Amino acid sequence: MVSKHCGESWCQNHLADQHLYQLLEKVDADLTEEARSKGCLLCGGKLHRSDYDRKPRGGPQWDQRFSLCCAQEGCRRRHTPSSVRFMGRRVYAGLVVVLVSAMLHGLKPERVQCLREALGIDRRTLERWRQWWLGTFVESSFWREARARFMPPLCHKTMPWSLCESFEVERRDRLLDLLKFLAPITIPAAWKELVM
Ligand SMILES: [Zn+2]
Repeated sequence: MVSKHCGESWCQNHLADQHLYQLLEKVDADLTEEARSKGCLLCGGKLHRSDYDRKPRGGPQWDQRFSLCCAQEGCRRRHTPSSVRFMGRRVYAGLVVVLVSAMLHGLKPERVQCLREALGIDRRTLERWRQWWLGTFVESSFWREARARFMPPLCHKTMPWSLCESFEVERRDRLLDLLKFLAPITIPAAWKELVM
């Protein structure tokens, strides 16, 4: 179990972990390759890489969201695969949104403020994230289906701290598992439901 007292150190360790950033980029490349191999879901045409510029604020120095486009004339449909790095349209990396939001329930307010300021996240943004986890996320169809996997049931009032605790995210591989678990909500079609 995650201890409340060391929450700050594992959160900061993850946020400073260049190896983790590289690992997440590699996982995204794999997710993209997997989606590419399935072909266009509309016409069955071949998909080719069509990445676009996306630089998350605070934390990792990534600069592209991997994406795919149908090569078939007349279709050309874009398919953006799920991601362990980018969370829908959030301007911060997914792991920042998860970890800093979790700290709201795991650290004293002044420590959260330090963390927030170090990452350049303004107060209102963090408050929006908090409301999103406690409202939009827990009411989403994704969570309504997924929550049954957790025994004992997770506390909705301390999301996403309770999620982090359950995944034991102080370990890098377990944080990766959590980001993979959340990956289905990161594609544009799923994200629509999750916009406040
Ligand atoms: Zn197509």
